[in-house]
Amino acid sequence: MAKVLTLKKKILSRNDETALKVQKLLHSHNIASLNFMASPGGGKTSCILKTITALQKQYRIGVIDGDVNTIDVEKIQETGVPVELADTKGACHLEAHLILTAANKLPLQTLDLLIVENVGNLVCPASFDLGVDLNIVIASVPEGDDKPYKYPKMYKGADIILLNKIDYLETESFDLDYFTQGIKVLNPKVKIFPISCKTGTGIDAWITWLEKEVVIQN
Ligand code: MG
Ligand code: ZN
Repeated sequence: MAKVLTLKKKILSRNDETALKVQKLLHSHNIASLNFMASPGGGKTSCILKTITALQKQYRIGVIDGDVNTIDVEKIQETGVPVELADTKGACHLEAHLILTAANKLPLQTLDLLIVENVGNLVCPASFDLGVDLNIVIASVPEGDDKPYKYPKMYKGADIILLNKIDYLETESFDLDYFTQGIKVLNPKVKIFPISCKTGTGIDAWITWLEKEVVIQN
């Protein structure tokens, strides 16, 4: 048992070392970076597309898509920004070495912002630091209001929560106070943006904040 624990610690710390390399690489190019995490269907790709559309006139954006196929890569390519697939070979999360490899294939000299789409999963992506500036967790109304209680590690490590699909608030029995309270206990200072990628509600507030706090600091 002890052996297993030691081995796990070693693997994680090697990931942390690589995450530091990613951070240094991106900062040496003055690139701000975002890691979007959510369960499958939570709206990672939709949120990324909205973010790209809102910012691509002012900033040069690159994307790394952690996936096992190129379906989302193709959607993102339609915006015209450079995209690299970080093929997880079937694994259910991204690790820092995959980001390092994919980042080095992007035209880093020309980028202001790097967006990472993690694998759809609320469990292990929370345990693998990628060396990016901001960890964004997307929750969505149809998934239910109990996600912070079920996946505390994910919510604890988040810098930002996007509550997506708020157009479903009228039809789903989603208790917004219960959801918010669950987050506040774990992560009192985290900012929560209610949005709908479908209707566009709340996207302006998210983009305004992002531009003020993150991208513009470069
Ligand atoms: Mg996706
Ligand atoms: Zn995993």
